[in-house]
Amino acid sequence: MKKIKGCINPECIAKRKKIVYAGDDYYCSKCGEPIFYVCRWCRRPLEEGDGAFCADCQAKMDARKQQMKDTAIKTGTTVKNAATKAFGFLSESSKKFYETAILGTEDEENEEE
Ligand SMILES: [Zn+2]
Ligand SMILES: [Zn+2]
Repeated sequence: MKKIKGCINPECIAKRKKIVYAGDDYYCSKCGEPIFYVCRWCRRPLEEGDGAFCADCQAKMDARKQQMKDTAIKTGTTVKNAATKAFGFLSESSKKFYETAILGTEDEENEEE
C-alpha cells in the first residue's frame, strides 16, 4: 500500500481536513509547513521502517485481520464475507479503516462463493 504525505501542523486546515499530498510535494499548500509521510489512518507521522500505517494502527489491523480469519475458518466462510458481516456493526469511519486494512490487502482472497 502506498504511503501518503500530510501536514502535521495542528493549527492547519489541511491537517483537520486530512488533505493528502503527493509524494513529490514537500510543503503544505495551506500553511507552508513541511509535510511528512503520515499514517493512512491516524495521520501520525510515520517512523523509519513503517509501512503505509504507523506501528499502532498496523498492530490493530493485524489483530483485527486475525480475528476475521478465525471467524471465517470457524463459520466456513471467506475472510471477505466475515469482514463484511462484521462491518455491519461498525461506524462509517471504522468501516473504512477495516476495509482498507483487511479487504484492501487481501484482494487475492476475493473468490466469491
Ligand atoms: Zn498545513
Ligand atoms: Zn496510525
